[in-house]
Amino acid sequence: MLKQNFYIFSRIITDITMDKASRNNLFTAFALLCLICSCSKKDDSSAGDSKGENYSQQAPGKSAHDLLTADRFTTLNIEVLYMKGYAPDGAAIEQWKEFLSSLVHKPGGIRITQTQLPASGKEELSLNDIISIEKKYRKSYTHDNELDVSLIYTDGGYTDPDVLGIAYRNTSICLFGKTIATHSGNVGQVSRTKLMATVLEHESGHLLGLVNTGSDMQADHEDREHIHHCNNQNCLMYYAAETTDILGVIISGNIPPLDDNCRNDLKANGGQ
Ligand SMILES: [Zn+2]
Ligand SMILES: [Zn+2]
Repeated sequence: MLKQNFYIFSRIITDITMDKASRNNLFTAFALLCLICSCSKKDDSSAGDSKGENYSQQAPGKSAHDLLTADRFTTLNIEVLYMKGYAPDGAAIEQWKEFLSSLVHKPGGIRITQTQLPASGKEELSLNDIISIEKKYRKSYTHDNELDVSLIYTDGGYTDPDVLGIAYRNTSICLFGKTIATHSGNVGQVSRTKLMATVLEHESGHLLGLVNTGSDMQADHEDREHIHHCNNQNCLMYYAAETTDILGVIISGNIPPLDDNCRNDLKANGGQ
């Protein structure tokens, strides 16, 4: 029963943390529960799980050290599952790979595979929809010395239409292709490559434990209004980087980099 609760609450917390600010007060109520349950969760991530499916059920940031270092896993595999008509921008995927390569120690390399899924046909996808899609189609799970991450790229938007992406489990992220397409690539809009790469980098920052969710803060820089985000407006981990609020910022400028505080947290947790 405890385990079941953990899953439910961790989804809600993730959902809230990834969303815009307004629901933060709920977080405090659930935070303690998550903390208690996540401790009890730790044990079943290794034993009796040859396919690594249990390992993939943890909260975002729980695999930060495993992602950043080669202590347990020397290779990183990324399985991109995209819906028909929404093949991800190739240059954005390349840029994302370079971004990850500059942060993690994976002597076996970072491998990215892409698989097309049937269209969902839905205008709006809930977190539960996304979890069901992952359960149905994800083939690649952490095993031996290989750590596996799943990226779902959808043909619909999220229940919050301003959200471009979410990190919802320790090795799972989702980008809302329809919303990204609506806001990029046309005259007067930001380039598709730039927007997609920004959201990919931001969501993977959460998997790497930013902010204060798996990679301990070396200096206090968590945005109190937007939990698990950086308080520096010019940092990639500023909350706006995963919402349509980022559009004005990157339309003329570059993808925001990780600031020193975020880089230091990753380094202290074993990253480059
Ligand atoms: Zn975020
Ligand atoms: Zn930062």
